[in-house]
Amino acid sequence: MADQQGHANQAHVLFENFVAAKTCKEVRQTFAELCRHLEVDPKDYQHFYIRLKERLNFWKAKELWQKIDKRASHPDYEQGKTCAKTKCLVLGAGPCGLRTAVELALLGARVVLLDKRHSFSRNNVLHLWPYTIRDLRNLGAKKFYGRFCSGSLDHISIRQLQLILLKLVLLLGVEVHMGVKFNGLVEPQESGATGWTASVHPPSRPLSSYQFDVFVSAGGGKFVPAGFKIKELRGKLAIGITANFVNRHSAAEAQVQEISGVARIYNQKFFQNLQTEMGIDLENIVYYKDDTHYFVMTAKKHSLLKKGVIKQDYGDAEQLLAPANVSQEALLRYACDAARFSTGGKLPELEFALNHAGQPDVAMFDFTSMHRAENASLVRERRGQKLLISLVGDCLVEPFWPLGTGIARGFLAAFDAAWMVRSWAKGVPHLQLLAERESVYQLLSQTTPENTSKNHSAYSIDPRTRYPNVNLSSIKPKQTPCDAWQT
Ligand code: FAD
Repeated sequence: MADQQGHANQAHVLFENFVAAKTCKEVRQTFAELCRHLEVDPKDYQHFYIRLKERLNFWKAKELWQKIDKRASHPDYEQGKTCAKTKCLVLGAGPCGLRTAVELALLGARVVLLDKRHSFSRNNVLHLWPYTIRDLRNLGAKKFYGRFCSGSLDHISIRQLQLILLKLVLLLGVEVHMGVKFNGLVEPQESGATGWTASVHPPSRPLSSYQFDVFVSAGGGKFVPAGFKIKELRGKLAIGITANFVNRHSAAEAQVQEISGVARIYNQKFFQNLQTEMGIDLENIVYYKDDTHYFVMTAKKHSLLKKGVIKQDYGDAEQLLAPANVSQEALLRYACDAARFSTGGKLPELEFALNHAGQPDVAMFDFTSMHRAENASLVRERRGQKLLISLVGDCLVEPFWPLGTGIARGFLAAFDAAWMVRSWAKGVPHLQLLAERESVYQLLSQTTPENTSKNHSAYSIDPRTRYPNVNLSSIKPKQTPCDAWQT
């Protein structure tokens, strides 16, 4: 009896360690310990969550199960039966890859997710639309991260969001491989003998031989798989600067007001004063208080030149912002001055937080040219084996950070992709499926909190619950990019 109690207590401790884990490595380690202790096999993805629930009789876990069960009971998932035979590979453990993996797991699919990074290190803070806050709350985000969107806060650091979602996907039986680079798809070798696989580095037996019929790329802005065309949208020169300062969570820091996106046209005086007093000329600035004090601003070229941040003027944005043409020291000063001025000097001791490389976390980015994929998905067929490829997140549409659309639109696309995988598993003809996906994709770049459905509690993977008046057949099957290569 005492032994049993000891075993249960130990399980509770391990569960709490898992919930509280603060790094990617710690999450995976504590999860493995919990599974070992409870003798549940995470590879048994179809039964894993149920077994875990049965064996972990702990009130804190039950609160989480209730949330997950509520979501999982949505009729769209058809009790996880629809995709029971679907095998998915998700590329990228960014927020959008992880969020897509949650949905695919709820649909009952086998989901394997890989990422070339070993850790989650991005301090930068993401703006959340009200629906994303509701979505994450409903999935138990607050159980994993107590400070999640407390009060009126509508943002979260990228790494905290990844941690929450990583914990969730693991509980749902998703197989996660970190430190593994995806090098490309490997076509089926012989008719019927093997399916689609992935070339990965370092080569790993179980992963290289994993055969899948759905590939979701959530590899971020720089990774778009072969076969997709990218559209470049060139605007006027836009130089973004992000800066993170240490948050000591002191009373004085708590008093400082956040700046939720002030654009020049709305507060001319503030920007004028910033220019006159500091020589800093900005288009806009955002300040969020999170794990760090995070600032993102769009700076005008002439003031960066004047302050010595950019050494020499070039017409080409790439040349202009090349590392050799940027003075890191002057950039730190510029970011620090902008942060101090915009918070009225109230942030005491501005000390830069460090990035993954141990350097002050300040960076300058070029938003002059933004990219988006022409199509959201395609189907490839080789030797009789079909593969559905779907893009989500930044690799579908690159977001303009100061507007903070990355997560909101990224999650919408994650749901849309999951809806398409559901139709795929149901055997909907692929031209029709692609046409439907493209019809929905057309709406994505125009979405705002105002023109998407206000009934957030009704949001599901079905696009009709989110986009009012969506026409799922605005694109006809014959207009789709079906890249069905036969041999
Ligand atoms: P990401 O979060 O970029 O994740 C992509 C993942 O794919 C990465 O973990 C990457 O390691 C992995 N990957 C890529 N290629 C491979 C491969 N070949 N093999 C294996 N894994 C691979 N947005 C804001 O709103 N404000 C900001 O300040 C801000 N700062 C950012 C800073 C950086 C450095 C980056 C990269 C992005 C930033 N963003 C910011 C964008 C924001 O992070 C994304 O909109 C959001 O994270 C959703 O992105 P995602 O999941 O689609 O891709």
